[in-house]
Amino acid sequence: MKLKSLFTQDLAIDLGTANTVVMSEGNIILDEPSIVAIDVETEKVLAIGQEAQRMHGKTHKRIETIRPLKDGVIADFRAAELFIKELIKKVRPKKYFFSPMLKLVIAIPSGSTDVERRAVKDSSEQAGANEVYLVYEPLAAAIGLGIDIEAPEGNMIIDIGGGTTEIAVISLAGIVTCSSIKIAGDVFTKDIMDYMQENYHLRINETIAEEIKISVGAALTDLDDPPPDKLIVVPAQQSPIPIEQPVSYTEIANCLNRSIERIEAEIGRVLEKTPPELYREIVKNGIFLTGGGSLLRGLDKRFTEKFQIQFKRAEKPLLTVAKGVGIILEEFDKFQSILIK
Ligand code: ADP
Ligand code: MG
Repeated sequence: MKLKSLFTQDLAIDLGTANTVVMSEGNIILDEPSIVAIDVETEKVLAIGQEAQRMHGKTHKRIETIRPLKDGVIADFRAAELFIKELIKKVRPKKYFFSPMLKLVIAIPSGSTDVERRAVKDSSEQAGANEVYLVYEPLAAAIGLGIDIEAPEGNMIIDIGGGTTEIAVISLAGIVTCSSIKIAGDVFTKDIMDYMQENYHLRINETIAEEIKISVGAALTDLDDPPPDKLIVVPAQQSPIPIEQPVSYTEIANCLNRSIERIEAEIGRVLEKTPPELYREIVKNGIFLTGGGSLLRGLDKRFTEKFQIQFKRAEKPLLTVAKGVGIILEEFDKFQSILIK
């Protein structure tokens, strides 16, 4: 540990709608779902992250589980505040007699309003942060992808997260255009739940639908490297023997088709609005795909065929933004101009 870190703690945070990742000195020190469990009577936080996730969906009168950033923006300010506070508490070192100075760089959705930015800052300061800097996610994602954001070039980055898909064109360290739609991982999960209900009359919960999405989630019905069917086991209503139902990737590709088409339509609209010189550079550089939702099998291939532009998926789509904010923190002086103070 560097001597400096005895007196200061610098953290980079990707505050996502589905997952929050915290980096320190280039390492991931926390990676958990953005969810908080609250005791409704005392308003006390019972747990955050994985632990809160386990309480989610289990009906209990006193426990409420909340995803504070559900729709890409802060959906619940109070819960967001509690989540951020608890998050910081969790990663603060406990072994000292004094608290080191805390500096944070936090990535936030580019569509955040003034009020939301204020809320993130205030909650962080109340949680003990001495300095808080915000940065827009697409810029952090670009840095995480290794793009030279200051270059006089146009790049398009598509981040398919939990709550939203953000489509951004960046150039000269700025966001030229950005569009955010509420079709992303959560909607894919919901599509699968609806499909299982309509097609098999099986009522499955979010957790099982997510498992299906991860095991056989696909954007094409003819994959080069198809995954085996996913067998789901659900309790039967009038029988002690549970129902076993195999689900194939082709079914899921069909069931997700409409949502993927809606994302494609939005990509098309953003491309149409892009100034011609930037458009040419985007075609030359290819389009970058990131966010957990981009892990759907064949999505990069489907987009590439549809737009006749090379789509390149990040190596670790769930960590691109975190990696980017981590780099911003490490090279803090270099990235001054993109920080929102
Ligand atoms: P956010 O930035 O909004 O927190 P993430 O980039 O962390 O979102 O992505 C989370 C979303 O990615 C969730 O909806 C999750 O279900 C989805 N996801 C994670 N892994 C996969 C996978 N292998 N295939 C499809 N979707 C995935
Ligand atoms: Mg994200």
